[in-house]
Amino acid sequence: MISELQMTEDPVVSRKEAIEILNTPDDSLDELVASAEKLRRKYKGNHVSIHILTNARSGNCSQDCAYCAQSCRSEAEIDKYKWVSDEKLYQDNAFVKEYHLSRHCIGLSGMEFTDEEIEDLAKRIRIMKETCAHLCCSIGFLTEKQAKILKDAGLDRINHNLNSSRAFYRNICTTHTFEQRIENIRMLQRLGFEICSGGIIGMGESKEDVVDMLLELREIQPEALPINFLLPIPGTPLGDADISSLTTSYCMKVLCLARLLVPKADIRCAAGREVYFKGEEKQLLKVVDSIFASGYLTADGQGIKDTIQVITDAGFTYEIESI
Ligand code: SF4
Repeated sequence: MISELQMTEDPVVSRKEAIEILNTPDDSLDELVASAEKLRRKYKGNHVSIHILTNARSGNCSQDCAYCAQSCRSEAEIDKYKWVSDEKLYQDNAFVKEYHLSRHCIGLSGMEFTDEEIEDLAKRIRIMKETCAHLCCSIGFLTEKQAKILKDAGLDRINHNLNSSRAFYRNICTTHTFEQRIENIRMLQRLGFEICSGGIIGMGESKEDVVDMLLELREIQPEALPINFLLPIPGTPLGDADISSLTTSYCMKVLCLARLLVPKADIRCAAGREVYFKGEEKQLLKVVDSIFASGYLTADGQGIKDTIQVITDAGFTYEIESI
């Protein structure tokens, strides 16, 4: 089926074709990867963006996202704090510059913020922008006023994931809606932010849900599209989730589909990379052009030196010019 897609132009994949792509027989996976790789090379060349994540505000969230260790219904044992120390925040920022990495991502738990909290964040963004060119904040619902404060401080990009399909969303969260997420992203786009938005695979959703989420993302056209593969966290409602469907080949099909549907985006293999693609990084980087190093919000990951080694061993480059 993939060979039927017109690869001289970017493919226009229908919903039915997208579902077929997720059902690609494993013995045709190389062909699917080759189709995705053409687009990866066309738009991203040989480069892999490495991102470093700082959990700036951790735990005590009012929201009930089923996968999240920081949610109000999580009993997971995690560090909880309102602000990470400035020392840690600025150290991580300097680290991004020192290693010539692509972006410093700053995660904040919670969905609503006071104007004072946003001003505090803006103050720190101004300081960090002096050393690190590219920042992204993963932050809940902002008012327009708050978004403008962050824009004026120099914030380039905001992460706000869709997480799953519109139909499945109520199964993973009841305290806010999918539509609220879409509206927040649209407001941020109107203000000129770059958008990072993606989802989580392995929460019990169907293949149709995965396709529908990616089709919504095609409408949004985010600059970055992170795909997380569920790492069940004990103490969360998904702590015992059945992840047997998350085979390396299925995860690869999802990433290929993301590349085929939103070819110009940075397609990121985010949480789960070290588990579901262990030893398969060379194949993975043919499709994705963006990864995290040094861990996730509440899960450990691969350290920077090993991450760089994996990228260079696979024949890719990662460094960007520092400011
Ligand atoms: S994903 Fe974000 S909004 Fe949802 S519970 Fe976790 S920190 Fe809160």
